[in-house]
Amino acid sequence: MKYSRKEFDAIVVGSGPGSATVARELSLNGKKVLILEWGDNDPVKGNFSQTISRGLIPGKGMLVTGQALGMVRGITTGGSSLLYCATAFDPPTAMLKSYGIDITTEIDEVRKDIPNDTLSDELMSPAGERFMESALDLGYNCKKLNKFIYQNKCKPDCQRCLYGCPYGAKWNARNFVNEALENGATIMNHAKVDKVIIEHKKAIGVEYKFGKDYFSAFAPKIIIGAGGIGSPNILRKSGIHGVGYDFFFDPLIYVLGKIKDVKSGRGLSMCSGIHFPEDGIVMTDFNLPHLMKIMFDLEVFKFVQSFSYSNVVPIMIKVRDSLGGRVINDRLIWKRLIESDKHKLNKGAEHAKKILENAGATDVYRSWYLAAHPGGTVKIGEHVNSDLETRFANLYVCDCSVMPEEWGLPPTMTILCLGKRLAKHLLGVKQIADEKRATSAAVKNMPPGEERVPY
Ligand SMILES: Cc1cc2nc3c(=O)[nH]c(=O)nc-3n(C[C@H](O)[C@H](O)[C@H](O)COP(=O)(O)OP(=O)(O)OC[C@H]3O[C@@H](n4cnc5c(N)ncnc54)[C@H](O)[C@@H]3O)c2cc1C
Repeated sequence: MKYSRKEFDAIVVGSGPGSATVARELSLNGKKVLILEWGDNDPVKGNFSQTISRGLIPGKGMLVTGQALGMVRGITTGGSSLLYCATAFDPPTAMLKSYGIDITTEIDEVRKDIPNDTLSDELMSPAGERFMESALDLGYNCKKLNKFIYQNKCKPDCQRCLYGCPYGAKWNARNFVNEALENGATIMNHAKVDKVIIEHKKAIGVEYKFGKDYFSAFAPKIIIGAGGIGSPNILRKSGIHGVGYDFFFDPLIYVLGKIKDVKSGRGLSMCSGIHFPEDGIVMTDFNLPHLMKIMFDLEVFKFVQSFSYSNVVPIMIKVRDSLGGRVINDRLIWKRLIESDKHKLNKGAEHAKKILENAGATDVYRSWYLAAHPGGTVKIGEHVNSDLETRFANLYVCDCSVMPEEWGLPPTMTILCLGKRLAKHLLGVKQIADEKRATSAAVKNMPPGEERVPY
């Protein structure tokens, strides 16, 4: 546990899509990387009880707002990608370009590294098919969505995707962590990073808690990828104030209806969807694991409905919420859904109701609010520059927290691309020539980091 000062070239905090990508790329290029991860690294069982410990413990994986909205994040190796639906949305390239970030090359690279395709018809669930058929019948522009799924390994009827696929079919950030480990990286689990050690305005190491004790580790580059809630907490304790405010978390609800001749409620989720970019609404099919459905039903007092499962078709409505709120600490967030957010959710729910009723659904009802993509807490242009570096030299952030604006779509593809781009920067690979760096006024006004240390 005692690491000497010269042992590592970089310390990566967290192991979600952002941090795992950086760790993998650096290790593939011969750098010695230490990954410090708060959660476990136990093999994925793909069951509800393991999911509770990773994503549903209040004040840890599940943060609850004053409006009783539960926001989920994964605390385990691979982060929230262990629990995610593996749907790949193209990144907001124009938005990022306006902040001096061009990830077009990285998009192609990620597509070569991991699967990013629509599902074959055999893998579409019966409920998902009904959603798509009905939506198309009503004239909605409903399309199959791209998935990070190794389709040859997928067992469509298993319903364990959200519990962390035990068959290796769902790509998640553990795949990149494992590659990093094969290439010489070290991971330390149950190590919760508290703060970054700063000396003369340069990051030189981190302080972390393991068991009851605190330890330090040192490296010339520190990359924080503890997610939208974890990263601002670490930065604040390290002396970077003003982070953790005005964030988004993409609130969502489910609208559910019973369709007699749909025989199986099991299958992959988010296989097809409709995007209303102007309204900031996205709507998809969403097969819920049985126990999760019961939980959501009971939350809205749908006791009778909680007995039905196989012929219930749930539709998820996720919206682009307004920036607001604050991360109070690692266990507490404050954020309210404002009227415009609720209006979007209601509008989406009306579309979903129409689609379900057109498919023959009865007993249509909706769930309570949830959220799953916290971000924008350490924004590019305010707290990190276009190289994702903070005001302290050698201290970088790479995860959903750096998203500069609310976007409203699942962010994993974007985070993977940002991770690849940051790794190139750290390795000194020249960025694409025509890239306009640091164009936004906010980026220009950021205090420069101290003297950069060659890597
Ligand atoms: C149910 C669900 C479904 C989703 N579906 C999709 C989808 O279909 N498509 C999509 O693109 N996105 C989806 N997402 C969102 C996606 O999973 C996240 O946006 C993504 O994982 C965020 O990556 P990240 O690197 O920012 O952070 P995270 O994945 O949250 O990783 C952060 C890591 O840091 C660790 N950590 C936190 N604090 C500390 C600390 N102090 N010290 C050490 N380690 C720490 C955590 O344990 C975790 O491993 C979904 C999310 C959920 C919860």
